[in-house]
Amino acid sequence: MSSLGYIWAWQQLNIPDVCAGLRYFAQPPWWDGQGMPTSVEDRYPLAACDVIACSISYELDLPPLVRMLQSAGLAALAAERSPEDPFVIIGGPLTRANQRVLLPFADVVVAGDGEPGMRRLRELLSSGVVGRCSLTEGMTGTMGVSVSGTPAALCACSPASDLPIVSPVIAPASTLGDLCLVELARGCPNQCAFCLGHRGNGPVRFASTQTVMSSIPDYAPAIGLTGAAISYHPGLVEILHWAASTGRRAGLSSLRADHASKPLVEALARVGTNTLTVACDGPSQRIRDDIRKGITTDHILACAELAREARIHAMKLYVMIGFPGESLEDLREFVALTNELARRVSLSVSISPLVPKRSTGLEAAPFAGLTELKHRLQFLKSSLDSGIRISQVSARESWQQYVLTRCDESDAGRVVALSEAPEDFAVWRTLFPDFL
Ligand code: SF4
Repeated sequence: MSSLGYIWAWQQLNIPDVCAGLRYFAQPPWWDGQGMPTSVEDRYPLAACDVIACSISYELDLPPLVRMLQSAGLAALAAERSPEDPFVIIGGPLTRANQRVLLPFADVVVAGDGEPGMRRLRELLSSGVVGRCSLTEGMTGTMGVSVSGTPAALCACSPASDLPIVSPVIAPASTLGDLCLVELARGCPNQCAFCLGHRGNGPVRFASTQTVMSSIPDYAPAIGLTGAAISYHPGLVEILHWAASTGRRAGLSSLRADHASKPLVEALARVGTNTLTVACDGPSQRIRDDIRKGITTDHILACAELAREARIHAMKLYVMIGFPGESLEDLREFVALTNELARRVSLSVSISPLVPKRSTGLEAAPFAGLTELKHRLQFLKSSLDSGIRISQVSARESWQQYVLTRCDESDAGRVVALSEAPEDFAVWRTLFPDFL
């Protein structure tokens, strides 16, 4: 319930007098005593649905989806399901990187922006079309929709008028608490080599400032503003002041360091931001330049200064390691930067090994290797000042993402085998020795 895309799809599939959208989660607490996935709403069995719509955020969402289909009594592979089985449609951020790994499991994959595919599905359902074959046929030819295992071009055509997307629900028990999520922008004007944010994502599009302010429900106590290019939104400061004037808290997913200005950071402080979140991504200036990050050490230091002046006392810094050509010197430069920052703010650092994803500028880059990454993570953890809080994505988890980002249709059998014990690393090693 912390994914705006998931919540949006659920909302779209609640069509009065036509279709009830039910929520299913991949974790057994939501399943029945026999290990069958059932709906949160009324314990309706998954296999009895007419349509199963799945949002896949990243590679490691795939094995749980496969296990969920099998636990529901359905074949994981679309080719092995019968015409009477539910119609399975898959979308989500992973489709920008690698829709081919998803194709064997779906009747259709919605690649990129989901709006045209979802509009077409709603039209079909509203006009009484049901059944796997009829829905598959009806979706054929829709922009961004891959049918029968043939990848479609990414859809990046949703206009600015589709924005903002505003979460129709607030789920206080979810990770994001009482935030009402609002997507302000889509696409990104930058070209960072490791990132999918700009990939097939058209020109950057912004929600109109007035529409954002009129779309946020009165009952939302706090808003979470999202979008890859959110720092570039021309009305961002105005929206934050409007939120403060209506008694709401607000926050950004992250701020581009070269777009941090005094008015913006002061507005963030006014809406209750107590941690400024910034991504430096490359550990050194040399690597940030190599990956076209477009921000400098000075930008990052200036952010900390602005935060301190605005009485935002904490900063969270995202960094990745394991870039091609990266050396200990690059990591030492990062340590020096964090020491400088920690003199100004209370600092936390989130470290992730680079996963060279398909469809990015680093697609051809090698994975740095499990042993090497463990050494580099250990080096950073032992070198960073003891007052700096550290969180990290493990080398193992990054390697698992790397494996699945490289897989395609031909690996479907291995993905199915993996889904029997995706938490067992020995199974990964046995199934994917060619990636070690
Ligand atoms: S890392 Fe951020 S700024 Fe760079 S391309 Fe991706 S979304 Fe844009």
